[in-house]
Amino acid sequence: MRVLLVEDEPTLNRQLDMALQQAGYSVDVSVNGQDAWALGDTEPFDAVVLDLGLPQMDGLTVLRRWRSSGRHMPVLILTARDNWHDKVTGIDAGADDYLTKPFHTAELLARLRGLIRRSSGLSSPVLSCGPVQLDTRSGLVTLDGQSINLTSHEFKVLAYLMHHPGAVVSRTELTEHIYAQDSDRDSNTIEVFVGRLRKKLGASHIETVRGLGYRLVAPS
Ligand code: CA
Repeated sequence: MRVLLVEDEPTLNRQLDMALQQAGYSVDVSVNGQDAWALGDTEPFDAVVLDLGLPQMDGLTVLRRWRSSGRHMPVLILTARDNWHDKVTGIDAGADDYLTKPFHTAELLARLRGLIRRSSGLSSPVLSCGPVQLDTRSGLVTLDGQSINLTSHEFKVLAYLMHHPGAVVSRTELTEHIYAQDSDRDSNTIEVFVGRLRKKLGASHIETVRGLGYRLVAPS
């Protein structure tokens, strides 16, 4: 899953960037409203963490512009302490949730997981497909209750597929959701990751839909 982090305060930005990456997200980072708006307007994000006080263009304007151009990814806004008015305005501008600074990183991660699973129509933090389970809280993947070791890329591919159960996901879509913008993207590597996942989880879980992409299935 790919997250856009918009925060102009360098220490908080670095801290959140690291925490999000450790949690298994691909992260694009923005430190001003103009860049954030452009990125969110063109790249497909699974969620956005948006500070409201930003240079060049404030967070509320960024959010309103995304919503008015039909960008509907889940957005978590960060508001200043004691500014309850920002929360109301933010939610009315299209934010899905908010956190007041200062906050615990664990809470931000929990709210983000909630936003992402709700936007996929999922309610449980543990995603299941037949004998395969992915616990979004711990990042633990199990097959028939046995934990499976995945590399970070394998995890990202599986996590995306598990958030879209039964859907055919193209290689392009997978590429866009497992790599941040500045990384070396190569859609051929998706095939490699899927091949390794099939070895680890059993070949029948990930179906190839010729010419279209992949689909996660629960083998009968
Ligand atoms: Ca700020």
